[in-house]
Amino acid sequence: MNKYIYLDHAATTYLKSEVLEEMKPCLYENFGNPSSIYQLGENSKIAIERSRHKVATALNCQVDEVLFTSSGTEADNWAIIGIAFANKSKGNHIITSVIEHAAVKKSCEYLEQMGFQVTYLPVDKYGIISLDQLKASIKENTILISIMFANNEVGTIQPIKEIGKIARENNIYFHTDAVQAVGNIDINVNEYNVDLLSLSAHKFYGPKGIGSLYIRNGTNIDAYLHGGSQERSRRAGTENVAGIVGLGKAIEISTSDIKTKNLGIVAIRNKFIQAILRDVPDSSLNGHLVERLPGIANFSFKSVNAKFLTSVLDKKGIYVSRGSACSCKSESASHVLLAMNISEDDAFSSVRFSFGEENTEDEVNYVVKILSREIDEIRKYTR
Ligand code: PLP
Repeated sequence: MNKYIYLDHAATTYLKSEVLEEMKPCLYENFGNPSSIYQLGENSKIAIERSRHKVATALNCQVDEVLFTSSGTEADNWAIIGIAFANKSKGNHIITSVIEHAAVKKSCEYLEQMGFQVTYLPVDKYGIISLDQLKASIKENTILISIMFANNEVGTIQPIKEIGKIARENNIYFHTDAVQAVGNIDINVNEYNVDLLSLSAHKFYGPKGIGSLYIRNGTNIDAYLHGGSQERSRRAGTENVAGIVGLGKAIEISTSDIKTKNLGIVAIRNKFIQAILRDVPDSSLNGHLVERLPGIANFSFKSVNAKFLTSVLDKKGIYVSRGSACSCKSESASHVLLAMNISEDDAFSSVRFSFGEENTEDEVNYVVKILSREIDEIRKYTR
């Protein structure tokens, strides 16, 4: 068994050795600036374009529709703010949901300060938006719908195909934050009528600090960074060549046989869910039973402070989170769980376990044993 058990793959994943091997030459012998016109620069340019091709294959889109960014956060900011400012003569209304990641939520709040109007759609107890409410909230001046593909705290997957259809019928741009979905489930931007899609390499065994925004050809969007002509003059700055190459390799590996890979992860996750519900009294699974990412299981444990529980597990070498990694240190209850009508007490008692390819049945058995013992112990003082 490892020195520790890592059950926080939704926060980040390790870098696969095949990915690192592909990145190494870009940091040493092929260090040229992709904008330079001699061979060393050309080598970097070729490496970037190969990677763009791999992302396009994974998303089923055109190669020139893939733009590289510094992160999923930047891709979200660019999609939302870039569409809003480029299309403000058409309208100033945006629709999103109440359970978005901070990168989308804060971009929308920023736009509200800039005079845009934002509708935040509620979700049901599973974390799914209502298509009827979406349709009813569309106005003449709606320019963008931004709904996440899959939630980072509970793993619930939205009806993306249907949302895309509604957006298309109403001639509204559709952005989806697919940071948790890419590499974990099959994605086809054309089948889903998605116009903009954000992804991030460190969620699928690629490097941190590199992401991508898919922008459908013909989309009216502002440039994000102004300067040189990199990324077709839409996102200036010398490219993170090694990061881009790592992203390309990671997306190629993680999407090549997604169904087989997921069979193993789902089996482990389901074993875990069944064992927790059997062995830990007063525990409940949050999120949708079927429409969920393969790797995520979020539980509320009644009368247990999740912050305390995660620190107990940490001392035993079991790494899990209370929710989104970005808000883990926050003292407030998860906005996602509250939006799903989970009480504040239960939200403070919730822990996210997220599984990856390397987790084993032995690890599941061990974690369930520790959890059931520690939760019993904690409840002696809280009940
Ligand atoms: N969107 C979602 C749903 C996420 O889970 C995350 C990261 O946790 C992000 C956006 C931000 O991605 P990055 O860490 O690459 O900035």
